[in-house]
Amino acid sequence: MTDQAQAERRYLKPTELRISSVTITSEETRSHGSFVFSLDTELAWGSVHRGGYANHDSEFERTRYVIDRLLEMFEQYGVKGTWAVVGKLMMDEGEQDPGVPVDAGHVAETERQINWRGPSDAHFWHGSDIVERIRACAVPQEIGCHNYTHMIMGQPNSDAEKFDAELKLCKAVADRRDIDLKSFVYPRNAVAHTDVLSRNGITSYRGVAPSWTWRMPGTLGKRVARLADHFLPVSAPVVKPSLEGDVVNVPASYSYLHRSGWARYVPIAVRVQKSIRSLRKASSRGGIFHLWTHPFNIASDPEGLLGGLERIFQEYRRLEESGLVKSATMSEIADSLIGGESVSRAS
Ligand SMILES: [Zn+2]
Repeated sequence: MTDQAQAERRYLKPTELRISSVTITSEETRSHGSFVFSLDTELAWGSVHRGGYANHDSEFERTRYVIDRLLEMFEQYGVKGTWAVVGKLMMDEGEQDPGVPVDAGHVAETERQINWRGPSDAHFWHGSDIVERIRACAVPQEIGCHNYTHMIMGQPNSDAEKFDAELKLCKAVADRRDIDLKSFVYPRNAVAHTDVLSRNGITSYRGVAPSWTWRMPGTLGKRVARLADHFLPVSAPVVKPSLEGDVVNVPASYSYLHRSGWARYVPIAVRVQKSIRSLRKASSRGGIFHLWTHPFNIASDPEGLLGGLERIFQEYRRLEESGLVKSATMSEIADSLIGGESVSRAS
């Protein structure tokens, strides 16, 4: 029996996924795997914490080009992206905040950096045009949230109350553009206060990727294992969503690495192999392959990294045409759990 036929046989076999306290038996879930692709969209906002953004000029300049190319490929291969956009990035230059930003220290540092470089860098901080480009894609995309000023949970000035205030500002800016924010990506994947998400109408967030490297002893052991894992062309984890309170955790599978510093020594082929193997696993067994990246990371080697993504998308298309996998946004995954009639809570 060919791999394809075996995969189809598994596809026809009814399965049941046990997801924490929730059992899912929907037709949707047993008929195919899912491919989720989330993109942390922040331009310079993600670099403020690193003491400056001047070292990333060339990547920032190329980011809009990368986003356009990504959207072209999404249209060509039928991929739905979940774009987690920093609230401030959604705004036009000179547009008034809908309220007072809560992380005053962070905002002051940001303004210091903006003033230091001057107004010619405004396009690194304001990207309402990017949101419009995403919305114009012929394949429906989701605009999600990446906090208002890229505030990182767990750092000073990031308690639940301030998180709540940041989210309300994001919602207000999105409302001006008639966008309903349903999905959230934590800056630096620092997950905290998930109850604040559901209070603000968010139904899904991206959780941390499960990894075999957690089992390694000691901090150094884990660090070495994490580095080694980047070089190994083994499959990334296939993940399952879980309902946590009123919000769905859609964990990450694999970060599509930039090509700066040490990561330039990781062949693009390894990124592609990891992704393709994981996609095939999700297709044959069910579950989600959740790829994620930053558009500005792809800008570290646009042609090389976009070429790698295209190979992944080609494999996705092949599997999708066989009915084995479907592209989904994070909120669609959440809806299939929260809203599906066939979802039942285990007693
Ligand atoms: Zn970020």
